[in-house]
Amino acid sequence: MAAPRPHILWFRRDLRLADNPALAQAAAGGQPLIPLYILDDSAGGPLGGAQRWWLHHSLAALDAALRRLGSALVLRRGPAADVLERVAEETGADTVHWNRLYDPAAIARDTALKAALTTRGITVASFNAALLFEPWTIRNQSGRPFKVFTPFWKACLAAPAPDAPLPAPPRLAPASLPAGERLDEWALRPRAPDWAAGFAPCWQPGEAGAGARLGDFLDGAVGRYKAARDRPDLAATSRLSPHLAFGEIGPRQVWHAVHHASGREPAAAPGAAQFLAEIGWREFSYHLLFHQPQMPERPLRAEFAAFPWAADGDGLAAWRRGLTGYPIVDAGMRELWQTGWMHNRVRMIAASFLVKDLLVPWQRGEAWFRETLLDADVASNAASWQWVAGCGADAAPYFRIFNPVLQGEKFDPEGHYIRRFVPELAPLPAAALHRPWAQADLARRCGVTIGRDYPAPIIDHGFARRRALAALATLKQDS
Ligand code: FAD
Repeated sequence: MAAPRPHILWFRRDLRLADNPALAQAAAGGQPLIPLYILDDSAGGPLGGAQRWWLHHSLAALDAALRRLGSALVLRRGPAADVLERVAEETGADTVHWNRLYDPAAIARDTALKAALTTRGITVASFNAALLFEPWTIRNQSGRPFKVFTPFWKACLAAPAPDAPLPAPPRLAPASLPAGERLDEWALRPRAPDWAAGFAPCWQPGEAGAGARLGDFLDGAVGRYKAARDRPDLAATSRLSPHLAFGEIGPRQVWHAVHHASGREPAAAPGAAQFLAEIGWREFSYHLLFHQPQMPERPLRAEFAAFPWAADGDGLAAWRRGLTGYPIVDAGMRELWQTGWMHNRVRMIAASFLVKDLLVPWQRGEAWFRETLLDADVASNAASWQWVAGCGADAAPYFRIFNPVLQGEKFDPEGHYIRRFVPELAPLPAAALHRPWAQADLARRCGVTIGRDYPAPIIDHGFARRRALAALATLKQDS
């Protein structure tokens, strides 16, 4: 009898063994299995620098987990179509399993790939591992996609509950694996300078780290999540976002764990319900991206294409480096650089400062976040930037302009967050911390000279606000 032909399991943004339907299906058949990861910079562009660091550690963790099941991860680099064809040829594999992606570049690639593999007699089987509700399954009453979050999430909550998560396979049938590349050869981690040195103490990439984060959150902070989630000085959110972005944990696992932890009725537990609604924003971002694939590049509200942005290169540079002179903005931008993550409230404040105070196009901020965030996600990042810039579906209106001083006072009242990430301001009392330039004498008595130890504001917020509203008014006249 001929030996069974192996199946390829193509890992993408699903770097986990549990609740991985492509893996579960591939393992259930009992054929020899080739777990494959392809570093393919051609679809959707290369990963940002911060995510390359994460990918290194996540792939190492996945390989170790596969080895415990008697297998290993095969690494190859190049356009996915070429690599898959070559691996199928080398091994005689007759089936490829993968979990679906929903961004336009991946959809185009996967559609072409599926057609090419099928022509060669190779079966493709694809699954949903990344979303609670795939974008085409949720529709409004007239059968169209949603453009507003609240009715979208209501429709999701009224839909049949997501399936229970699948267990990890207990073992994998042995296969003779083709040669792969060494992870170190890919040089995913920065060397000199090692700007990622601050990441390791904050994060444990991989499935085990993801599970630990969720467990800790549900054992602790979820209870006060609704009240405290806007406070960057408190550890009040889950920090699951990079794990979700790489698929080290899936939203079905989160959904069912939250239901389990809150006695199956999260609606009665405000923290749990709010947390699930945030997972809902992630779903909504994918819903928007799938139905409006131009979202990462172009404003969803077409009139914003004519917005009179300013070419503020110096402002953009100061913003990136956390040297704007507004402490809450600078703390956020430095948190991002040092830890690869920024608190959601501060993302909103910093993004608003860039697009409204400095009038820099939101796409420039989106690109910087893509380069520096460990959780950079094509759907959530673009949807959030468009939301802040006022040009997205269901966006905050452009005329609502965050005042960075008042936001800092409200959400970091004691200044603990600012002191941590802007240590040169640490000697100041909380009352002076959010507008140190306004109390320059006091600051000097505390040993801080504004303009020398910490910048004076690069723009006056009152002026910037009037300028932004005037810019908006030109759109209204045009439209
Ligand atoms: P929690 O509060 O614990 O929320 C749980 C999960 O829900 C998150 O891990 C995330 O997957 C999801 N979530 C929460 N808030 C949002 C949101 N507003 N939109 C979409 N999903 C959400 N999130 C990303 O995952 N990737 C991005 O690239 C990204 N870019 C952003 C850019 C801007 C300008 C802004 C304002 C927000 C952005 N967000 C992005 C959303 C949000 O800031 C992060 O998801 C959140 O801060 C992650 O921290 P957490 O895991 O502790 O979140």
